[in-house]
Amino acid sequence: MEPMDDERDLSDEQGTTFEDLGLRPELLAALSALGYEEPTPIQAEAIPPLVEGRDLLGQAATGTGKTAAFALPVLQRLPAERGKAPAALVLVPTRELAVQVSEALHKYGRDLGARVLPVYGGAPIVRQLRSLDAGVDVVVATPGRALDLLNRGSLQLGEVRTVVLDEADEMLDMGFAEDLDAILDETPENRQTVLFSATMPRRLDALARRHLRDPVRISLGRERTEPGEAPRVTQTAYVVPRAAKPAALGRILDIESPTAAIVFCRTREEVDSLTETLNGRGYRAEALHGGMSPEQRDRVMGRLRGGTADLLVATDVAARGLDIDQLTHVVNYDVPSAPEAYVHRIGRVGRAGREGVAITLAEPREHRMLKVIEKVAGAPITIQKVPTVADLRTRRLELTRAALRESLLTDELDRFRVVVETLSDEFDLMEVALAAVKLAHEAGGGADDEEEIPQVSFRQDNDARGPSSRGAAGRTERPPRRSSGGPAARLFVGVGREAGIRPGDLVGAITGETGLTGRDIGAIEIHQRFALVEVPESSAEEVVRALRSTMIKGRKATVRRDSQT
Ligand code: AMP
Repeated sequence: MEPMDDERDLSDEQGTTFEDLGLRPELLAALSALGYEEPTPIQAEAIPPLVEGRDLLGQAATGTGKTAAFALPVLQRLPAERGKAPAALVLVPTRELAVQVSEALHKYGRDLGARVLPVYGGAPIVRQLRSLDAGVDVVVATPGRALDLLNRGSLQLGEVRTVVLDEADEMLDMGFAEDLDAILDETPENRQTVLFSATMPRRLDALARRHLRDPVRISLGRERTEPGEAPRVTQTAYVVPRAAKPAALGRILDIESPTAAIVFCRTREEVDSLTETLNGRGYRAEALHGGMSPEQRDRVMGRLRGGTADLLVATDVAARGLDIDQLTHVVNYDVPSAPEAYVHRIGRVGRAGREGVAITLAEPREHRMLKVIEKVAGAPITIQKVPTVADLRTRRLELTRAALRESLLTDELDRFRVVVETLSDEFDLMEVALAAVKLAHEAGGGADDEEEIPQVSFRQDNDARGPSSRGAAGRTERPPRRSSGGPAARLFVGVGREAGIRPGDLVGAITGETGLTGRDIGAIEIHQRFALVEVPESSAEEVVRALRSTMIKGRKATVRRDSQT
């Protein structure tokens, strides 16, 4: 394998392993089980000072791996003797994020037996009180509910070693500034304070000055690529909910028909499962990840170079040092965790004056990261719509037509004449041709078996949002209220209280898998064996499809429109 000439920069920067960061074996084991191969840049920079106990002010958007950047040190610093009161407090703007961050802490902290509790408004407070009383290590809370529990005397912050303010700009936008001050005042003076924010508005400086001591500062995506450095690549992105990604990718590849493509994933697990999916769709895809031996790697590369494989599905680590001449497309199955990684990935096509195509699948919540990347890459990334079933049919018919035309021009067809002649006694020639085209079309993989993929767009940017949505006096979070005002559809979800489902689980699942926000979701009723949830009528089909293909609290559920509505 020939080394790539532009390899130096990143391999020097990213030679760091999780072991180098000084993490405990239990955490390393969890990361390895999750298929994480190396720390993202924000993790490599943030984890060592955080493990040492330093305060930190970090600019990082969703998609950079920021959650693990603070979650791993929080878990590492849990005391050996666990008491009843929490040793760490993570404050987040929304219930969705509280659920997400808790799940991350739970995943990483499994081998440490970390007790993690999400608390947010709108969920029954009694259960949260009971859990707090039983003892927890990390509380992940929205500010309003944290303050409420603090005022009731059930949230004890005297033992807190670390406080994390995640998405701090959002918390300020939502009018939580005073709540944050009040909460932080209840924690020990010598605590560690960590602040992450996607943007760094001035108001944030004041908050940081008040609560952080001599913080390490980290930001991503400051430097721009020099003009001329950026490769000649057509850059497009598709906004796709996580659940629809495999289908969307298959469809995009069908339309693009790359000669040879490399598809980048974040983890080994993703590489393996995507390779399987693509092979199931008729592609000849090969997996390449850091867990493979040099011999396995060489075999894969041989198949790609020899043309017996047309797609390589790889992690960044595994793809390092690869030089593939005929590569026409680079696909980012996930938004890369740093702009530099993006620039490096897409540098594999569009070399030596050739044209290349870079395609990125972004989840609705990753819009900020994509903007940062666009700035650093120094060239526009065009957002495109995922090809529809109709697009796909048109494209497949085009391919069938082209194949037939080629056959008419070049093939020796005489031996089929007898078939056409005998049939023509009985049928019109046009009808015979139509049946033949149908068979050729289907043999070419042209069966129309596709479900529509929901078209979603990025959520509205915070910067464009109006002033604080909370009244000055309000301390409790409002129950979710639909902001669209349009007609609502009621959906039946076949899991309920018996399965431990709470409203937050449904909100989390819906907002995580679709373009909707918590505000778009209306009334939620949780019954013993099922739940009912209201969503905007215009998004009902998208939500049904997304929920059907995702797990809710680790279960697959029946989801359909409620027959009562
Ligand atoms: P975040 O920016 O924290 O929302 O994380 C974005 C996604 O990246 C999450 O799905 C994480 O599970 C994943 N992730 C975080 N760190 C790594 C890593 N070092 N390697 C692979 N995936 C990661």
